[in-house]
Formats: sequence, C-alpha cells, structure tokens
Amino acid sequence: MKLLNIFKILLIGLLIIAIVVFVAEHMYDVNVYFFTYTFKVPLFVLLLTFGFIGFIIPTLIFSWRERKLSSKLSNIFTISKAIFFSKYQKPKVNLDAIKDVKPLYFIFSNLLKQTPIYEDDIYSNFEKAKSLRYENPQEAIKNLDSLEEKYMALQLKRNILFDIKDYKGSYEAQQEVLKNTPRSEKPFQKDVLNTLKSLNAHSIEDKTKLLNELEDAFDDTKNELTAFLYVSELLAQEKTKDASKVVDNIVQANLQDKLMLVGCSNPEKAVYLMSTSIEKSVLKDVLGVFYIHIGAPQKIKMLSEASTGSEIVDFLLKAYQDQSQKDGFNLVFKSLKLWKCKECGETFKDYSPKCSCDSWFTFEPYIGL
Ligand SMILES: [Zn+2]
Repeated sequence: MKLLNIFKILLIGLLIIAIVVFVAEHMYDVNVYFFTYTFKVPLFVLLLTFGFIGFIIPTLIFSWRERKLSSKLSNIFTISKAIFFSKYQKPKVNLDAIKDVKPLYFIFSNLLKQTPIYEDDIYSNFEKAKSLRYENPQEAIKNLDSLEEKYMALQLKRNILFDIKDYKGSYEAQQEVLKNTPRSEKPFQKDVLNTLKSLNAHSIEDKTKLLNELEDAFDDTKNELTAFLYVSELLAQEKTKDASKVVDNIVQANLQDKLMLVGCSNPEKAVYLMSTSIEKSVLKDVLGVFYIHIGAPQKIKMLSEASTGSEIVDFLLKAYQDQSQKDGFNLVFKSLKLWKCKECGETFKDYSPKCSCDSWFTFEPYIGL
C-alpha cells in the first residue's frame, strides 16, 4: 500500500474523530423556540433530528421512487468499505456504478487509482465483450451472459444482436432491459422495444397481421423508422389512400423530411412514397436530394429552375443535367451526408435507428459533405 493512501485514510479518520469530539463537547441543552413555546432539547438530539429530516427521509423517498439511486447509495457504501479495508484486501469494485454521482466518483477514483484490474473482474469482462463486439459477436454475447451486473450487459447484448440482424434476439434482450429500467427512462426504452418489434414483425408472412403490427408500433412510437416501415408496407400492399392519409397526418417535427430521407437509403421502396402527397410538405432541399436519389429527371429539372437555397443541393441539381459536370456531380453525390447524430455529431450517408455511439433515434436530417 502506498504511503499516500495511508495518509488519505488517516485524514478521513481524523475528520471523523473531530466530528465525534465536537458533538461530545457540545452535549449541553439548547433552547428551541416554537411560536410562543420554548423547549429545552439536548444538542445531539437536535443534530440527529436535522440529520434525519435533511438526509435520511429524502433518501428514503428518492430510493423508493428510483431504484437506481438506492443502488447507487449502496454502491457508494460498498466502495467506501473497499477503500477502508484496502489494507487487507485489494479492492475489487466497479466504479462505473457511481459515475452519475460525480463528486464522489472523482474522490473514489482518486483513492483507488492504484487498484489492479483482475481478469475475472466484472468491469474487465464487460470491456472484453465490448472489444469483441465486431470481430466475434457470439463470443462477446457469451461474455455478457456471464456477467452479474445485468443492465449494462443487456443493453450491449441488444445492440450486438441488432448489429447481426437478429431482431428476435434483440427484441427479447430489450424486454429484459425494460424490466431493469428506472421509471424515468421507460418511455424511451418502450420506443426502442416497439421499433424492434416492428422490425421483427417485418418478416411475418400473414400480410394483414403484419400491417396491424406495424400500425400498432407506429401508434406507440411515432418515430421515423416505424413510420417508414408502416407507410412502405401500406404502399407495397397497394393501399395508397391509407398511406397518403398516414403521411398527411404526421405532425411530428421533421418526420416527413425524415421519411423522405430514409427513402434515400432504400430507393426501391422510396419510389412508392411518390404516390403519396408527401412532396407538398417536405423541405425543398430534402426533395431535391430525394429526386436525385431516385433519378426523376423531370422533377429535377423543375426544382433546379426554382432553386432550393442550399448550395450543395443547387449544385447537384444543376450538375445532374449538365454532362460537362458529371465528374463533379459524382464526387459530391458520393460524399453527400444526409444524417447527423444529435448526440455525438457524427454525420452519415445512410439512415440507421442506432448510431455508432450507441444512442437510439438520434439521427436528424442534415445535408452536407
Ligand atoms: Zn451518435
């Protein structure tokens, strides 16, 4: 054990002794005025009462409302214990568990700086799964299944299964995630669940059942992926009127723009979108990019004469018709990005419900290079 750590623990011990001495020195009664009454109360009773009202009651209320916080408090206790006994036993703690309690995280991580990471440590197993994610997803999942700390492991497992297009497995993992989710995050996690459900439902043979599943998923989530799946399935089943109605009734911010841009990643389905009245309400820039993606020369001509306002889109529309600018067109079109993650700021060409930074439904329309 480092000399510095001994000093740190001695300092904490001295602080505790100072508090105890202070209380012992002030054991006399004090007068408490309550309206017209006066009470004589021992000082330590007063201190305990304030401690109870100020700390223990709010803690009980919060931990009753948020299981996550109560587990944080118990983690703080475990970590404190680990530090206290680190003289006899090397601490084996997952500091990540208290990361949200920032000042304490800072103090504990400093105290534990020299802690070696053990091979069988929960934290290092999770890290191992993370590093195996792309090269060996099956092995990564096996690692995650062996972990005791379930919540983070289940989230990562869901994402890995999503990556390998095992939507059924991903859906089941998400159901487990939902069981362990604190109440405040539940609506968002339900959103993820419903989208996975609709992706899963997409392989259903029974057409009517598939449509009903997608309608339910869209009603629940109102997000762009379920909207797109629902509208494109309606169109595929030649229910154009219903599709138009759904598109017209979409009132969520940007959702029609998003639908149109999602169509760019899936041109064969996107053509169907043309038969709805979506063109009327989307942004001109988005429309321009969409026409270029599906190659609709007449529409491109009309738009390029009207000009859209975006430098890149204006260039693309004009260069598309001008043979001499073919190279420039190809270069710009190839590097065109249509989405930006509002969490990490990364830009992408194709739509995905999940960003590479692991956040869900964070893609916003963005036209740039
Ligand atoms: Zn991101």
